[in-house]
Amino acid sequence: MSSKNIPFIEMPVEQLRHLDSNNFYFGKSVTNYMLEADFINGEWTNAVIKKYEPLQLEPSTAVLHYGQSIFEGIKAYKSATDQVVIFRPQENYKRFNTSAERMQMPTVPEWLFMDGMKQLVKIEQDWIPKGEDHSLYIRPFMIATDPFIGVRPSSLYKFMIILGPAGPYNTEPMKILIEKNYTRATPGGVGFAKNGGNYGASLYPVVLAQKKGYDQVLWTDALEHKYVEEVGMMNVMFVIDGKVITPSLERGTVLKGVTRDSAIVLLRDMGYNVEERNLSIEEIVTAHKSGKLEEVFGVGTAAVVSFVAKLADGDYVMDFDLSKSEVAPKLKKKLNDIRVGLEADEHGWLVKI
Ligand SMILES: *Cc1c(COP(=O)(O)O)cnc(C)c1O
Repeated sequence: MSSKNIPFIEMPVEQLRHLDSNNFYFGKSVTNYMLEADFINGEWTNAVIKKYEPLQLEPSTAVLHYGQSIFEGIKAYKSATDQVVIFRPQENYKRFNTSAERMQMPTVPEWLFMDGMKQLVKIEQDWIPKGEDHSLYIRPFMIATDPFIGVRPSSLYKFMIILGPAGPYNTEPMKILIEKNYTRATPGGVGFAKNGGNYGASLYPVVLAQKKGYDQVLWTDALEHKYVEEVGMMNVMFVIDGKVITPSLERGTVLKGVTRDSAIVLLRDMGYNVEERNLSIEEIVTAHKSGKLEEVFGVGTAAVVSFVAKLADGDYVMDFDLSKSEVAPKLKKKLNDIRVGLEADEHGWLVKI
């Protein structure tokens, strides 16, 4: 089915909670409604938009044991004129199904993911906070729901979308430690998929780095710990001698970020030379020693563009004077201006609701 109106079970008006723009906390505050659907006997069924409430799962449920779980992160914005837009959701839809295939989960049809998301965001549009760096975070996810303790692909799955208001995130410039012991992703592994286990595995090394006074780690390749890959849960970009360099996606160990792709397009529009290729720690340190390492920043939906103030390779610490940054602030402004309608959407990235 190409399009479908998903049934909407309304809550009694007196039970509805409302956005308090002065008091919400990213990741904790959720809206009134959620979308839910089940995969049973080879098809998606029971799709409904209903009250946000706890799930009932048997303790034997597959996802609780073997980690078949994938997710996406998308943002909706409200412009000064109250136009509601979602930023490039089609890219997340494609990536969600790529993740599903890798995790041996069913793909999700467009009517459920895209139309369902639009319908839900439309219902909850009063929850989109206005203003700079404010948005509604959209979290689609899928879990394996077979009540069966045994390692095999599940035959039952649940797809859901929940929403939460989001304000500025990571506003402080980051201090980053280059990680050479632990690995986020391996060739042949699941680094290109947004599956839950990748994030569970990343927590321990990040806490170790935090104990040393850093905020996040810069992941390096699993085989040699020689080439940089990502910074925390963001893609990473380096400005060396006026050129922007970002790790390529070839090995399947770098997540194909929508913000990364948008950044590459906009930076090229602005006239920058952008290279997608392997970038070694050695090249970074050499560039720093000769004064050519100008900027380092992370790009991702949650934080959009995050500035790096300090980058350490063991005892060799590189500090950045952010008042001299040019590329990252320009990119951040451009991306934000497109999202809230202050600048033309030349690439057709906004889906209007
Ligand atoms: C989600 C994510 C990103 C950023 O991707 P966007 O599509 O830009 O949000 C980068 N790296 C990892 C590991 C991620 O999970």
